[in-house]
Amino acid sequence: MSVPTIILVALIGLFVGSLVNVVVVRLPREQQFGGWPRCTRCGHALAWWQVLPLVGWMAQGGRGRCCGQRLHWIFPLNELLIASAFTVFYMRYGLSAPLFYLSFVAVVLVLTGAIDWLHRSIYTFVILGAALIALATAAIIPHHSFLSALIGALVAGFVFALFFALARIIFPSTAVPFGLGDVYLAIFIGTAVGFLNLMPALFYGMLMAGGFSILLLILRAAGRPNIPKYISYGTFLCLGALTYLMLWGLGGTS
Ligand SMILES: [Zn+2]
Repeated sequence: MSVPTIILVALIGLFVGSLVNVVVVRLPREQQFGGWPRCTRCGHALAWWQVLPLVGWMAQGGRGRCCGQRLHWIFPLNELLIASAFTVFYMRYGLSAPLFYLSFVAVVLVLTGAIDWLHRSIYTFVILGAALIALATAAIIPHHSFLSALIGALVAGFVFALFFALARIIFPSTAVPFGLGDVYLAIFIGTAVGFLNLMPALFYGMLMAGGFSILLLILRAAGRPNIPKYISYGTFLCLGALTYLMLWGLGGTS
């Protein structure tokens, strides 16, 4: 493993990140996936350099060159997260099955987390489709197994279905800050990380969501305006699972 190959993997991660951003923009708007990227604010077709991951956003100073409107910070962050994840997985596993498996998981987590943050929704066909792929391939991934993926999916699904039911009972009339999409997301995370990694992987996300909620409470108590009432819980589950995988991988001896 040499420095040039590590840089190459990071660059591939950046470009995959910009493709993920295209999906983040177009999936909720139900547009076609083909076609040259356009400004997310005004719809103007972008110049080639504006499309470049990270560089395009920075060269424009976070504002569209076409319309001067602020571009969302989540897009460069998505590119940075995916590039970091690819690099870390490559350095841990080399060019091997776990690298491709975990890179796929990272793409699904960033995609799902970003759409949940921007639109407060999780796409059932995306997350359950990804869970099926993760389950079907788990058997051939070193440090993972079909049984571990299956038990992880069942336990995560059961625990989060319980949370979902409790939230419905506790808040029967108000908009519940915890949806069925979060149950499906937990099933995906359980499948992807396996039974033994499940609890810490979910715990990282719950801890982040808790910390962010406390921050919002403090800001609201301090009289800051426009503090959101609910948080996108799924985003934190995604970020937590991704952080866990980047720190510890799939566990076992590597
Ligand atoms: Zn624009």
